[in-house]
Amino acid sequence: MRKGIPVSPGVVVGTAYCIDQVFAPTSSDRLDDAEVASELARYQAARHRVAVELHALQQKVSRQVGPEEAAIFAMHESIVRDVAFTDRVEQWITEDRMPASSALGRLLEEYTRLFDRTTDEYLRERVNDLRDVVVRLSAHVSDVLHPSDGPPLPRPLVLVADELLPSQAVALGDLEVEGIVTQAGSQTSHAAIIARSRGIPAVCGVPSVLAHVQTGDLLVVDGRDGTVIVNPDAETAAAYRKIEREYLHLRDELAGNREAPAVTADGIALQLLANINDVSDAKAAEAMGASGVGLFRTEYLYLTHPSIPGEQEQLEVYQAIVDDSPNRSVTIRTLDIGGDKTVPYLGGRHREANPFMGWRSIRLSFEHPDFFSTQIRAILAAAAYAEKKGGQVRILFPMICNLEEIHRLRAMVRRARRDLHERGIQVPPTPIGMMLEVPAAAVSIDTMLPFVDFVSIGSNDLVQYLMAADRDNPKVSHLCQPLAPAVLRVLHQVITACLESNTPVTLCGEMAGHPRAFLLLLGMGLRSFSMSPALIPSIKSLAAQLEIPQARAICQHAMRLKTTGHVRRYLRGKLKEIAPDMSLMEIE
Ligand code: PEP
Ligand code: MG
Repeated sequence: MRKGIPVSPGVVVGTAYCIDQVFAPTSSDRLDDAEVASELARYQAARHRVAVELHALQQKVSRQVGPEEAAIFAMHESIVRDVAFTDRVEQWITEDRMPASSALGRLLEEYTRLFDRTTDEYLRERVNDLRDVVVRLSAHVSDVLHPSDGPPLPRPLVLVADELLPSQAVALGDLEVEGIVTQAGSQTSHAAIIARSRGIPAVCGVPSVLAHVQTGDLLVVDGRDGTVIVNPDAETAAAYRKIEREYLHLRDELAGNREAPAVTADGIALQLLANINDVSDAKAAEAMGASGVGLFRTEYLYLTHPSIPGEQEQLEVYQAIVDDSPNRSVTIRTLDIGGDKTVPYLGGRHREANPFMGWRSIRLSFEHPDFFSTQIRAILAAAAYAEKKGGQVRILFPMICNLEEIHRLRAMVRRARRDLHERGIQVPPTPIGMMLEVPAAAVSIDTMLPFVDFVSIGSNDLVQYLMAADRDNPKVSHLCQPLAPAVLRVLHQVITACLESNTPVTLCGEMAGHPRAFLLLLGMGLRSFSMSPALIPSIKSLAAQLEIPQARAICQHAMRLKTTGHVRRYLRGKLKEIAPDMSLMEIE
């Protein structure tokens, strides 16, 4: 049994598919003379199949999700077709007598070493793409599972990886993965957010799991408490399969409440919104019964795009998001790049010792005014489009730290509005909001509220900055806790300030979808929550079993507790009393 960080609720018992083992050198043996030609032919055939597969994938993703998400596969296809890449591999097969999968492993190792030394962030990022391509090629070379063939492995599948690469995440639908286990990552890392938005049980940060699990092993993944069991005995497997069935049953049952209004047991209306990254998430938001999109993270548009997308191209993506979002109501956040995510053409060449505290988000956008104004114009033009369709777009700025930034942003929005007006586009009044995720902004929120139309609390970052504990570092995850008493005080203070000034406030960090945290936030007076679409049905069901005075009492009691452990235990007990089923949907 191994323990990791539970990041997406639910339980699955399935077959391990280790994507990092696919290209582990199959043997250190040298090929015989007679084997070289056939190995070379095998490699070339695999290369051809991969190029065709990537091309098809690109067309499919473009059709089903959008051209931006598909762009990454075009880039991967160009890597596979790259002559220098293939010359290298073929040379090792013919001259060094290496099996193709070992040659691919060596190529990756060489590039990784080379790119690790460079300070050029663009090149460093490319190693991830190369890695993706090598994994795919190796799977074909060694006839192991690959997405288009359908695996010869019993379903359900549990993906086991060091970390989830961006294109693997996009292709998860193709793999029909129903569980995820990674060595790296934490609650708020890329893999975790993707897993939650797809409703897939997941555990991240499991130390050296790849050394202990082989493709084909039976795995239990418990996304509630982070347990991963490798090749469980029959009794254990049967016990977990029972929980898995209960979980799936509850999930299906809850999905039936999509048409029901989000109200508490005493009739107080709530807003349950969705956090989305792309058009397919917008569709999921609709399917899960969200009343709108509370956070559209635009960075995925850039992460999957080889160059800066132009204004028209961005507008088209935003319009497609508006069209597919519940009530055509979308809060669009400007680019929040830097920290854990970089794009090559914007600040990608810049490396920093403390990226989360450095040149990220609007700090970076401010220094690329042409790019930033283009994005603001595209968002405002999308607002004009949404209004015509009976919806609404709000614009949200991340990482706000002080009042000067807000003044500067408002001036940029005014200018963008004028520019559009000159082009004959009438922009409706568009609410301008700030993300509250920096402690400095929390402390001086009263000075900022008069200048913003709404506040969105980004608890993922707020918690990491308050606790001085990196949200992606499993070593400090015991500190990076949204239920820490210090965090609760700050949340309470911010929510109260917003309510007193009648400023609409939403919380869009991951804790919004955690049943225990929900009890507290409701008790603090919060009425608007934005979360992964898959979590909405369970929060709606929980709300329907709760009365406001009850939530208020729970909050008052929890706020008097002095340690995170006490808060967690107290809330766990309360949740069990109120909605015993919900523990299946809870993360420890
Ligand atoms: C947050 O920080 O809570 C948030 C919602 O933004 P992100 O996770 O994209 O940083
Ligand atoms: Mg954030």
